[in-house]
Amino acid sequence: MLSGHKRAVPHDAALPAIELENVSVRYDQTLALENITLRLPRGARVAVVGPNGAGKSTLFHVIAGVVRPTEGQVRIYGSGPGGHICVGYVPQRKVIDWDFPVTVTDVVMMGRVGKMGFFRWPTRHDREVVRAALDEVGMSAFANRQIGELSGGQQQRVFLARVLAQEAELLLMDEPLTGLDMPSQEVILSLIDRIQAQGVTVMVASHDLNQASEQFPAMLLLNRRLIAFGPPQQVLTTANLLAAYGGQMHIVRTGDGEVMLTDTCCSGGTALALPSLNHTAAPVVQPVVQETVEGMRPPR
Ligand code: ADP
Repeated sequence: MLSGHKRAVPHDAALPAIELENVSVRYDQTLALENITLRLPRGARVAVVGPNGAGKSTLFHVIAGVVRPTEGQVRIYGSGPGGHICVGYVPQRKVIDWDFPVTVTDVVMMGRVGKMGFFRWPTRHDREVVRAALDEVGMSAFANRQIGELSGGQQQRVFLARVLAQEAELLLMDEPLTGLDMPSQEVILSLIDRIQAQGVTVMVASHDLNQASEQFPAMLLLNRRLIAFGPPQQVLTTANLLAAYGGQMHIVRTGDGEVMLTDTCCSGGTALALPSLNHTAAPVVQPVVQETVEGMRPPR
């Protein structure tokens, strides 16, 4: 065996991309996920939505193999997720240390580690793959820039280039659109489209229910438990939204129909965007102080 080369994890592309069976995750006193059972076929494109603290990041950590479930089974193409090189995970921007002194090329080359192994120099092929990935996301001109110098949208493009260089078959993106202006959001969404068109299974966490329902054929509504999973019109029912957002959301019946009120706010300080249900009037959104996940420790 080549020293430093990562042992291949058994991988069966004919099996579901993701299978979770009765998965629960507990951090000390907090039950972050409870009894989640889920199966996603290869090439699925799913928006993961739910209030702050619903367990969206934890779900991604479990699928990426960064956090082990307290109970239940996770399988990625039939194998446990730990060290599975086909999973490309892009965390929330707020948890990344942007002062870390790495260039754009370094970040994208990190995606090659699974292919080339630690302690080995990149080959010409690795460098070509990195160049092509940067080209594909339109970031070649920034190859030697420090990652922290880029705008939020450019940083997300670099992370997508890393996923391309990794030749990932499963892409997990945690709130990639938060804080980006509309044109940057559109660039990221179209890159996600292109990546998915190559057969990559995509899960994107979002706090924007409107955008998620417009851009994704399937939604997974989470609040510790899996509230609903399926096409947006099936997921976004009043009953499901009340089950997920609970006390943070109120349905008020007015002379004009039903109006949805929310008294929470999403990360980034912008209002939680709510879809107007077919039978409701336009939503009324009342943002209050942002809920943050205080005292979060690195996953164990
Ligand atoms: P979301 O991404 O939907 O905001 P998270 O998965 O970040 O939700 O968090 C789910 C719950 O688990 C929250 O109550 C959060 O405080 C808690 N939590 C998440 N990560 C940790 C951790 N590393 N240690 C302790 N508690 C955590």
